[in-house]
Amino acid sequence: MSRAEAIARITGYFDEGGFFADLARRVAIHTESQEPSQKPELYRYLTDEMRPSLEPLGFECRIFDNPVERGGPFLVARRHEADGLPTVMSYGHGDVVRGYDDQWQEGLNPWELKKVGERWYGRGTADNKGQHTINLAALSAVLEARGRLGFNVTLLIETSEENGSPGLREFCAAHKALFGADVFIASDGPRLAPERPTVFMGARGVFNFDLTVDLRAGGHHSGNWGGLLANPGIILAHAIASLTGPTGEILVPEWRPPAIPNSVRAAVAGLEIDGGPEGPEVDPDWGEPGLTPAERVFAWNSFEVLAFKTGNPDNPVNAIPPRAGAHCHLRYVVPSDPEAFMPGLRRHLDAQGFGMVEITPAEDVMAATRLDPEHPWARWAIASLEATSGKAVAVLPNLGGSLPNDVFSEVLGLPTIWVPHSYAACSQHAPNEHILEPVSREALQLMTGLFWDLGAGGTPAD
Ligand SMILES: [Zn+2]
Repeated sequence: MSRAEAIARITGYFDEGGFFADLARRVAIHTESQEPSQKPELYRYLTDEMRPSLEPLGFECRIFDNPVERGGPFLVARRHEADGLPTVMSYGHGDVVRGYDDQWQEGLNPWELKKVGERWYGRGTADNKGQHTINLAALSAVLEARGRLGFNVTLLIETSEENGSPGLREFCAAHKALFGADVFIASDGPRLAPERPTVFMGARGVFNFDLTVDLRAGGHHSGNWGGLLANPGIILAHAIASLTGPTGEILVPEWRPPAIPNSVRAAVAGLEIDGGPEGPEVDPDWGEPGLTPAERVFAWNSFEVLAFKTGNPDNPVNAIPPRAGAHCHLRYVVPSDPEAFMPGLRRHLDAQGFGMVEITPAEDVMAATRLDPEHPWARWAIASLEATSGKAVAVLPNLGGSLPNDVFSEVLGLPTIWVPHSYAACSQHAPNEHILEPVSREALQLMTGLFWDLGAGGTPAD
């Protein structure tokens, strides 16, 4: 059997409805990890769906309880073919965000996969059941076509990613021996544009914090006290305004990354940001001046005010509010130092006369990661995807969004290659989540080609 025949086989699986059927069964399991009452469903996804799919392919499956109480179980599935072959680690998450069942478009239900035109709707289609279903089907197609894979696989399926991946780091650190590999290849997140095969090798980090100005116990009538009492909303607005220029340029020195490395600049040159027909337009003059849109989202840090509240916005009264608060965050790239973010902010606010602004950083920080686009495994994967698709692959040194990738890149020390199968306007985390039929079909072909090539020799592991 040849590479082309393996790809023909996976195309048949898609065209004859095999992919739809496999994904429909998985979508139907209510794996809402943010709902503690659904924990049995998290186990069921692993025991009744993943294990019976993987064991016939020669995977040895083990299910582990999460070391963290609120976390769901892990599945580790290993297929060891022979010593001396390359070993790939892969990953997926079987949990989804809440269904929000009553907010979907007429005729749609989050737990029932439904095709409407080129869109396949269902909770988890994009994030992440559809994506790992594609990768498992591709492995299976290579195994059938070649009679063996030509490499070893260790697969980790977690079930609390949408809950912040509690226990993932501890679990991987404690079971490092299970996850020895040459390369990490997995799928999550969006392509740069729907028709453009994409790889990313890391993720921006995310750092959340609250800013508060709390001046007094209660509100006071604005007629009797206006002009006499300081307004916390105005103070906080000025404090926030001192953090960026009027078009979002970051002014806190510790929040700004050093110059963009040439390899990163070269990788993102010419990438056009396209959220699909229903995505928003990029604001040309927002963010760091002199950077292209791709550099702003993939190679720079951004600061956002996510929510800002003073008084009672739903029911304003004639009073000077006692308090104002804002929930903010930074998305940041390698090699920014998150340890310096809050001391830098404190120094900056104090210097501007905003000593009364309190800073409360969130406990969970997601680290930034990035693999050099010139890394041998990155070049190998890009070449394979280009051979299958005949298209130029979009190469992102890191995703704009955030993933627990540092567990794989730092704790396990693996070169990490992500091949996303979704697109930016997929409504992931919202009602009407969906995947696109042509993207899914192409993704199955791309992953079959990639896994074929992994077992064909001549990889960076040899
Ligand atoms: Zn998600």
